[in-house]
Amino acid sequence: MSQEQMKIPQATAKRLPLYYRFLKNLHSSGKQRVSSKELSEAVKVDSATIRRDFSYFGALGKKGYGYNVEYLLSFFRKTLDQDETTKVVLIGVGNLGTAFLHYNFLKNNNTKIEMAFDADPKKAGTSIGEVPVYSMDELEEKVKGSDIEVAILTVPAGPAQNITDRLIDLKVKGILNFTPARLSVPEHMRIHHIDLAVELQSLIYFLKNYGSDDEET
Ligand code: ATP
Repeated sequence: MSQEQMKIPQATAKRLPLYYRFLKNLHSSGKQRVSSKELSEAVKVDSATIRRDFSYFGALGKKGYGYNVEYLLSFFRKTLDQDETTKVVLIGVGNLGTAFLHYNFLKNNNTKIEMAFDADPKKAGTSIGEVPVYSMDELEEKVKGSDIEVAILTVPAGPAQNITDRLIDLKVKGILNFTPARLSVPEHMRIHHIDLAVELQSLIYFLKNYGSDDEET
């Protein structure tokens, strides 16, 4: 993580990839500047929040001019470590895991799934979307010295903690946890938990009770 990123509030940091993706599209379509209103409509974050977020990056929009796309992009690239590819491992090559192996993360982010692991002997030794799949017995041997920083967990909840403990020993820094298990990790490790069923339920709840985003504001 870069020096700059540490000074940015977490809520702002979470929005960075969103801004980055949109600005990259703007840049490739030849746009040189963008207003906070335009950005707001595109990424669905209110413009006051965008202005506050951008002020942390030292990007001060000028009235009637907006923000310089090139400046913001180079800032995001540095802050999000876009100049360097982050190596990722995926554990659990089931339905969800297989979909991730086929997905081209490099398209929008400099992240790459380098290798995958599964306990099923029928899956080990194969390749999916050009990613090699190894058996769980090989985890330590393959991950050690590979510069892998992040793990995606798409196994059932049962073995999740045990696998996490092995990843801790391997000095993996962050886990994107798609299992319903709540994982215990040391303080220096970061876990982002994504439970698709809960997300879907929550969306349906909000739709029923509050309607769409537009109606809410
Ligand atoms: P599938 O249709 O292949 O069974 P799924 O997503 O419906 O996939 P899950 O039971 O969620 O099935 O398992 C996801 C994947 O995690 C499977 O490929 C399974 O072999 C693998 N898996 C299960 N236990 C472990 C474990 N202890 N270590 C590594 N991988 C495991």
